[in-house]
Amino acid sequence: MEEEILKKYRKAGKIAAKARDFGKEMIDEGVSYEKVVDQTEKKIKELGGKLAFPVNLSMNEVGAHDTADINEKRNIEPGLIKIDVGVHIDGYIGDTATTVPVKTKNKELVEASEKALEKALDMIKPGIKISEISSRIESTIKDFGYNPIRNLTGHGLGQYDLHAKTKFPNIETELDYKLKEGDVFALEPFATDGAGKVIESNRTMIFKWNDEKPVRSREARKILKMAKGKFNKLPFSKRWLVNDISKLRLNMSLRQLESINALYKYPVLREAEGGIISQAEHTVIVGKDPEITTML
Ligand code: MN
Ligand code: MN
Repeated sequence: MEEEILKKYRKAGKIAAKARDFGKEMIDEGVSYEKVVDQTEKKIKELGGKLAFPVNLSMNEVGAHDTADINEKRNIEPGLIKIDVGVHIDGYIGDTATTVPVKTKNKELVEASEKALEKALDMIKPGIKISEISSRIESTIKDFGYNPIRNLTGHGLGQYDLHAKTKFPNIETELDYKLKEGDVFALEPFATDGAGKVIESNRTMIFKWNDEKPVRSREARKILKMAKGKFNKLPFSKRWLVNDISKLRLNMSLRQLESINALYKYPVLREAEGGIISQAEHTVIVGKDPEITTML
């Protein structure tokens, strides 16, 4: 990897890690979603990073894609709270997440995803098959007596590309891709006491540019332009649009853009059986000595 690019991955990773820990410190019973999301997003900008996606704050049976909505009223409740942070420098991304137990004894579930991530990162080296590492993630979580989430995976990272190329599953697969030097991956084991699968809920707060489509309404056109330009085709939240788009037309415009596939939507994902979910995530650059960019 070119030195310039490596530097950008390192900087993005470091800012993501600092923001993750900053957000983590704030998480406690009764603290508002808005405060944690807003201040963590501000922190990323203060540290000189750009948001690769909205700060995700997912509680208990919610696995991913939850964040503060417009006029968000929710507060953090006891249980397992996941905070997932993405930062980019010129498109080079650091993606990291952790789970905070709030007034709960459910710490083993947190340990299961953390241990799975630790073991997986220990195996990272050029030439190893993803399937070997995925199997280790699965067996580690199962040894704790829990299930990995089979339809949430880690992923490759590329410039302005949050889910590049290859997936990095949390269960045994036939995937025979072999890691090579310079590959960048986000590894993110999810563990649950439920079925081991997430399903889409009917709430969506996060979207991403998908395709150039003709749209008649002025607001919809403006959103699509921001999705492509300001947000660099990376995921953005509805909340990020409130200063630019009339609140009255915002939901309608987003629905319209999504229905014609101009935008891609990320519905809030919840455990199929209502199980509690934990998550641990780091970004790693593959090399003779693998480099975890999101570890402080
Ligand atoms: Mn993430
Ligand atoms: Mn990720």
